[in-house]
Amino acid sequence: MKPKIVRSIEGLHRETAKWRDDGLTTAIVPTMGALHQGHLTLVAEGLEHADRVIVSIFVNAKQFGANEDLSRYPRDEAGDVAKLAEAGAHLIFAPPEKEMYGRNFATTVVLKGPAKANLEDKFRPHFFDGVATIVAKLFIQSGADFAIFGQKDYQQLQVVTHMARDLDMPIEVIGVPTVRASDGMALSSRNQYLTKTERKQATAIYKSLTQAAEKIRNGTDPQKAMRAASRSLTTLGFKVDYVTARNAETLAVPVSHSHEPLRLLAAAWLGKTRLIDNIEV
Ligand code: AMP
Repeated sequence: MKPKIVRSIEGLHRETAKWRDDGLTTAIVPTMGALHQGHLTLVAEGLEHADRVIVSIFVNAKQFGANEDLSRYPRDEAGDVAKLAEAGAHLIFAPPEKEMYGRNFATTVVLKGPAKANLEDKFRPHFFDGVATIVAKLFIQSGADFAIFGQKDYQQLQVVTHMARDLDMPIEVIGVPTVRASDGMALSSRNQYLTKTERKQATAIYKSLTQAAEKIRNGTDPQKAMRAASRSLTTLGFKVDYVTARNAETLAVPVSHSHEPLRLLAAAWLGKTRLIDNIEV
């Protein structure tokens, strides 16, 4: 069944109030559209947890820097609606910019902890303030019981989880493993920017992370393994922003010889496209 498309906060409240009256639980899946199987897997996860699933589609200008890809970010609402109908989402919340940031909007969620890990925050200084602010709004607007996010954006998942906990938001944040193409490449709306040749080269990110994880499991010092992964990506023509091992929860630099859980995270440019990926060890 085609999900209902709602463009106003008032309309969203009307729909969710009906569900609440009927005793139904709700999950929200925040997205920027240009949906692929990764997003649809989040919808499936939402359906596992809740009676009703809302997918928001909003390209959030506040999380893009001045020289980033806001104007060319892929948009395909008709395609997204068809995919969400197939996936069984119940409602699409696709507000215009002025609905989200009208009335002299002047509030930003300020973050510390995993948002200040010298990872995405170092290279995209506005990013997490923008993400946390829009995500907080979506949590409040929807009143959802569950929020479903991808581990693909691992630092984002940690930041949102931390924010919900710190601010006592009555919502459970659930992380879903990264959905990959058959060659290992993490699915991303931004993969559309890659040329055919670049798309083939791009698998090197996942390969270098999996090789590093293997080395670490076999006893190599994590930072040494990550330096080798970074060098190999540079040799292949990537411009590396970071390739690093971090504590899987706090994202702090791990203490050497500790047995803390590790996450390996990478961000690198291939031509004009910035790609990110991460895996557990
Ligand atoms: P985006 O629209 O790209 O900002 O992403 C919306 C949500 O989808 C975020 O929670 C992402 O982490 C998640 N997501 C994006 N790509 C994937 C993927 N390949 N596998 C799982 N989740 C993903």
